[in-house]
Formats: sequence, structure tokens, C-alpha cells
Amino acid sequence: MNVDSRFDILLQPIEIGPVTARNRFYQVPHCTGMGYRDPTALAHMRGVKAEGGWAVVCTEQVEFHWTSEITPFIELRLWDDRDIPMLARMADHVHAHGALAGLELCYNGAHAPNFYSREVPLAPTGLPVASFSYEPVQARSMDKQDIRNVRRWHRAAALRARQAGYDLIYVYAGHGLSFLHHFLSREFNHRTDEYGGSLENRVRLLKELLIDTREAVGDTCAVPCRLSMDELRGGVGLEKAETEDMIGLVAEIPDLWDVCLASWENDSMPSRFGEEGGQEPYIDGVKKLTTKPVVGVGRYTSPDRMASVIRKGIVDLIGCARPSIADPFLPRKVEEGRVEDIRECIGCNICVSGDFTMSPIRCTQNPTMGEEWRRGWHPERIRPKESDKPVLVVGAGPAGLEAAQALGKRGYEVTLAEQATELGGRVAKECRLPGLAAWGRVRDWRVEQLHKLPNVSVYLDSRLDAEAVLEFGCPRVVVATGSRWRGDGVGRHWTTPVPTGDGAQVLTPDDIMEDRLPQGRRVVVWDDDHYYMASVMAELLAEKGFDTTYITPASEASTWSRNTMEQHFAQARMLEKGIRIQAFRTLSRIAPGAVALSCVHTGREEELEADAVLLATSRTPSDELATALARLRERWSDAGLEAVDAIGDALAPATIAHAVYAGRRYAEELDGPEVIGDAVPFKRELAELI
Ligand code: ADP
Ligand code: SF4
Repeated sequence: MNVDSRFDILLQPIEIGPVTARNRFYQVPHCTGMGYRDPTALAHMRGVKAEGGWAVVCTEQVEFHWTSEITPFIELRLWDDRDIPMLARMADHVHAHGALAGLELCYNGAHAPNFYSREVPLAPTGLPVASFSYEPVQARSMDKQDIRNVRRWHRAAALRARQAGYDLIYVYAGHGLSFLHHFLSREFNHRTDEYGGSLENRVRLLKELLIDTREAVGDTCAVPCRLSMDELRGGVGLEKAETEDMIGLVAEIPDLWDVCLASWENDSMPSRFGEEGGQEPYIDGVKKLTTKPVVGVGRYTSPDRMASVIRKGIVDLIGCARPSIADPFLPRKVEEGRVEDIRECIGCNICVSGDFTMSPIRCTQNPTMGEEWRRGWHPERIRPKESDKPVLVVGAGPAGLEAAQALGKRGYEVTLAEQATELGGRVAKECRLPGLAAWGRVRDWRVEQLHKLPNVSVYLDSRLDAEAVLEFGCPRVVVATGSRWRGDGVGRHWTTPVPTGDGAQVLTPDDIMEDRLPQGRRVVVWDDDHYYMASVMAELLAEKGFDTTYITPASEASTWSRNTMEQHFAQARMLEKGIRIQAFRTLSRIAPGAVALSCVHTGREEELEADAVLLATSRTPSDELATALARLRERWSDAGLEAVDAIGDALAPATIAHAVYAGRRYAEELDGPEVIGDAVPFKRELAELI
């Protein structure tokens, strides 16, 4: 073991109330989109993090009573004793690898529409439910009996959590997602009794729950308190000074302070809009208020930065959600002096999209995330090769790079051929766009791994056509040749080309990324992609001085990026850069010097002067190589060619996460067992009928 002494501080144990964390790496609670639907998959995923060295591994929010549940989102539940085994499974997996298991008890209250239980939501003050959508549901104000009830339910849940084996049992007051946050906030708490008004009164219920929980389980379990320091709403909502005063009132009651920002999008700030350690100004100072350990997050991936925030006395433990998803073995790699092997989170928030789309968590950097049990994949291990047949991978984008490095680790002889003079494919280009520099880590980690694999040969500046592939004579060929943005406007709204007059100037994101800028001053960006590309293009064009108008048929810019919590920031940035946003409009015709737009509701047309149009609609797979090889099939056996598989964008364009996953899947499945018949190729957990 080659421990770098700079990082000693990260490896020191620390007491948290009655339990001891083995080091300073703390996986804070984070949602997974798996929850009560996929408890075994979840248990295995958390277990892999414990194996990777995290000292504490927490659940997502655990709804502790049926009067507060956030259907359709899939979290964990601890409503009665029957939920204990599901939660115990996760604790067991975490304990099996020597980590502490933490459980975040949650009562969403005014954030929970209760669509499943159909109970009337409870809140400090009866206000509309503040969920992610505008649900037509209001909460009712809690009376004293309701408060007594919730205290009793919380206590019962804490006892059940202990029975399930958990070592840390949270009192959760963060993110604007907990009823305790609402009690603390003047905005949500309009009460005139002893639970409203003054700071002491608004903190009262938090204090009572902290004491209740300590009395119930505090002899053997730590009781952390999770609180948001600031809501970043400029004068509205909780702000640091007031939150510090609140902490001061209960500073010594919890065993640990887990401090974050609200709302969730500020807390899990995408890298496009915020840097590593962005929360430090808000959490700095908490340690002066309490003798109890403090944990805070900040998408920390650099061990130097982590050690420095502890040394500076800002936190005692490094809280991570996303860095632990991208690299479940981050602590082990620090411990073993292998920091260059850390698979750094890129801050894309695709992991968050799992929760928002109610699908199992996935990660751009770590394709094994969520697949630990379903497919038996492991972030650090892959089974050895099962044949000596070499593999040719054509294209070194995310799909090709991942396939090459994973096949290389299996021990196959791999040749990776890339037509460009640099590796990375779309990632190499996109990471030069405004705000996307961190995305280059998708390439960087894989290139670093390839350097260590003598059995993988990499050739740049090597465009291969079908003849060249046949001549190369490799039995397995992976076509990972990517895709190109379409220039005809075909996408979601229009599935046939947008009528375009002769002489009109039409560009695509590929043009811009290849430094072909529009002629003239006025540019219209048509977004029928709805993820990040059109807004990034608009931002880039505005920065270069073009008078930019952004058109979308949706109600807002980059609407899918709500799922990555980037939407609000993207729209704000566009407005700040002077980009005009026209929602509910379609691009119906393109002519030289002008475009026709129509209202998606009325069809009414208007004309807009434009020197050029940038179309971000959809992409065409660059599958010429695969198609040409298919046409030459009769020559395969003479050339020693057995199989050609297109993967990633070359098969069907999607996210970078999809491409990395496709590369991994190819590598995992090569020479694997034959899929029998139409069998489902992954494990799933089925409900047991009562
Ligand atoms: P994905 O997201 O599926 O990995 P990318 O578009 O990021 O796809 O990467 C595809 C890569 O394949 C690009 O770097 C591109 O230059 C390369 N490529 C495309 N066609 C060929 C070819 N015929 N020979 C070698 N490299 C190719
Ligand atoms: Fe980081 Fe993106 Fe992976 Fe989430 S999906 S952990 S943000 S790399």
C-alpha cells in the first residue's frame, strides 16, 4: 500500500456519537430511483460502495409514514414492521464490508401530494403542496394532536430503523423537502402558536424530534441532523445567518451536522453552472457553532481539495453523493495511493435523472451503477476473457473508449482505431463548449486506463473503411463510429424535413463544434432536442456576439434537462446573455434572410428575420462502416471476420451515458453465456403475492 501522507487526514477514524466511522469518506443520503421497487438491487449497489471504502453509506429518503409519500417518485418506505426486512437487506450489505449504515427518516409534508395513500398532506401551515409539479392539492395545517402523532411515528420509525440494523438514524430538515424545513422557514410556517413566529418556536419541533430520536435509539445509534444552510433565494427563504442561529439553539443535541444547500438543484449543482466545493462559503462557520462533527458536500473528486477542506476546519467528513456514484471505490483508491484511477464525476446529473424519471439510477462515468445485482457488473472487476480472439474497436468516443478499456481489462487483444487526431469523439468536442469542460473526464479516465493496458493498441488519424477492416482480419469488430447532427430539421416535432429555400444558411451543432460559424449577425436556434445542446449553442453564439433567438415548441428552454436539474439554470443563463427565448413556437419554414415560426396552439404564423438558422433536432447514426461490412458479408470468412456489432450513437444516438453503457455492455457480454430464447437478460425483483 502506497499511502500518500497528504491524504492521511482523510483516512483517520472519527467518532460520531456512539459509533465510529473508519475514515472521513461519507456517502450522504441520495436518491436512486430504485427504492421500494428494487430493494435488492439497491442493497447490492450500496454494498459495493461500502466495499469501495466509504465509512458511512446512507439510504435515500425513507418515508416513515403513509401520510407523507411522494408518489410517483420511488424512494424507500418504513411504514410498519413489514418494511424492516427490505431495509435490513441494505444494512447487511453495507456491514458486510465494514461500513456504517445510515438511514434518512423523512416526512415530506407540504412536499408530498400523497397520490398513493390519498391522505390529506400535513404541514405547519395549510398551503398548496410544493412538489416538483404544480399538483392541485393543498396541505392542511397541523394541530397539536398532529404534531404529537408525527413525533410518535418518527420515534417508532427510528426504533424500526435500529431493528433493521442501521447505525445512524437521521432527523432530516433539509432541501425544502422535509416538513421540518417548512417549520423552520418563515415562508412556510405562519403559525401563531409555540411552533411558529420566533426562531425558538420554529426550531421547537426539530429540537423535539432530535431529543425523541436520541432517547429512542441514541444509546447505540448516532443521530445526525441534516439541514440546509441557505436557499439562495436572495432575501426569501432560509439564509445562512438565520440558519446558523437555529443551529446555535440545538448545536449539541445531534451527534453530527450534515449541512447542505436548498433546493436540491442548488445542492446537486450541475458542473455546467457550479464548481467543485461551491458550498464552502455556506457551510464554513458551522464548526464554530458545535463540538459535533460536521459533514458537507461539494461534488468533491479531488483528494487534495478534500484534505484541504478538513484541514481548514470547514468540515470533519467529506460528504459525497455524486462522486460516490461515479466512483464507488474512491476511498480505496486514495487509501492505496491510486488517485489517478479515480473515476471523477463530471457533474452531468444523469444520476439525478433516474429519480426524476422513476428509473433505476445510472451514471455517465460509471456504467455499472445500478447494474451490480441486475447484471452482476462491478465497477472495479470484470471477468477474464473467455477466448483468445482479438477485437477491433472502430471509433474512440465514449462507447469505443469504454469498450476498449473494459475488453482490455478482461485480457483481450484490442485495437482501437480513431479517424481523428485526438481521442474522445463527441466528448472531446463537447467539452470545449461553454460550461462543459468537466465532461472531458469521460475521455480522460478511459485514456488513463488504456495507458496501463499493454494489450490495447491505439491508432489515431486512422479512418477505417470496410476494405481496411477486412484487410485487418480481426474476428470481432465493434463499430462505435458515433453520429452527426441532422441538417434538415427532422426531430420530434417535425419527422419530415423542414421546408428550406435555396440559399438559406443552415448550420448544425457539428458545424459550430468544427468552427464553422454563421455569416451575418442574426441567428435563430431551433431546439427540437430539448436536452442541453441547443441552449449551449445559443449561449456560445451569444458570447460570440450574434443576436440570438432561441425557439422551442416546449413551454421552456431545454425542457428535458429538468431531469438533470439544469433547466432553470440554463434558462437563467440564456436570459442573462440577452438571448430571446420564444416558447410554444415551431420553426415551420426557412428562407434566405428569414424564418417562419408558428404557434403550437393556434398555428398562427409569424416571420422572423434571420441570417442563419442553427438546427439542434436529432442525429443520424454514422453507420456507413457497419452497413458496408454487412454488404460484404460473403467475404467475412476469408477475412477471418466473425461478428460486427454497432454500439452507442452509431446504433442509435442517445446520451453519453447510453454510449458508455453500450461500450461496457459489449465488453461484459463478449463470449458470455448464450441468451436462452427470449429470456429477460437482467434480474428483476417481483412482488410476492399475498
Ligand atoms: P459514441 O457516443 O457512440 O461513442 P462518438 O461520436 O462520440 O460516438 O464517437 C465516435 C468516434 O468514431 C469519433 O471520434 C469519430 O471520429 C470516430 N469514427 C467515425 N467513423 C470512423 C471510422 N470509419 N474509422 C475510425 N474512426 C471513426
Ligand atoms: Fe457524476 Fe454524472 Fe455520474 Fe451523476 S451521472 S455521478 S453527475 S458523472
